[in-house]
Amino acid sequence: MSITPSHIIEYLFCPRYTYFEYVLCIPQFEEKYYKVIKGRELHSDRLKINRDYLRQRIGVTEKYLDQYLTNENLRGQVDEVLLLSDGTMAPLDYKFAEYKEKLFETYKTQLYCYAILIESNYGKEVCKGFLVYTRSRNKLLEVNITDSDKRFVNDCTKEIVSIINDNYFPKATKYKLRCVNCTYRNICVK
Ligand code: SF4
Repeated sequence: MSITPSHIIEYLFCPRYTYFEYVLCIPQFEEKYYKVIKGRELHSDRLKINRDYLRQRIGVTEKYLDQYLTNENLRGQVDEVLLLSDGTMAPLDYKFAEYKEKLFETYKTQLYCYAILIESNYGKEVCKGFLVYTRSRNKLLEVNITDSDKRFVNDCTKEIVSIINDNYFPKATKYKLRCVNCTYRNICVK
C-alpha cells in the first residue's frame, strides 16, 4: 500500500482515525477540518498567477509541472517541482486560501512528503519548499525542510503501514478536544 499526504495528516490528527477508516473501512461522513484537497476553483485562480515572476523571485533554473510522484512508500501530486540555482530542488504548492499569519501544520506535512518524493525521484537534495496563497495576492511563503522533518514523515508512514497491515489498534490522540467533533466518536473506546 502506498501512503498519501492525506493519510499522514489524518494519522497526525489521531492514529485511531487511520484504524477506523482503513482497517475497519468505516467511511467518514463529516467534513474534515484538515481537508487538503483543493477545489476546482484553484485552477481558474492559477491562470491569473504570473508564475514566471514567482519562479524568478525564487531563483528557479528548471521547472516540472503537475508531477505525480511515487516511491516504495509514498505517492503524491506536486504542483511544481523546481530546480534551484544552488542545485537543490523544491516543491511548490498552490493553496486556494488566504494567508492568516499562521502556517498550518497540514501544509508543512504535505511539503515534507513532497520533499521525500522529489529526493527519491530526482536524486537531488530538498531543503525547502514554497507555498503560494492564491487568495492573498499570491503571497509566496518559503518553508524550511530539515532531515528530521523528512525522518518524521518516514516514521509516520511506517506506523500507518503497520496499523493497516497488522490490524494494530493504536493509542488515541492525547488532544481530547479533537474527539468532540470526530466522526468516529461514538464507536471509539477511549
Ligand atoms: S474519537 Fe478521539 S480518539 Fe477516537 S478516533 Fe476520534 S479523535 Fe481519535
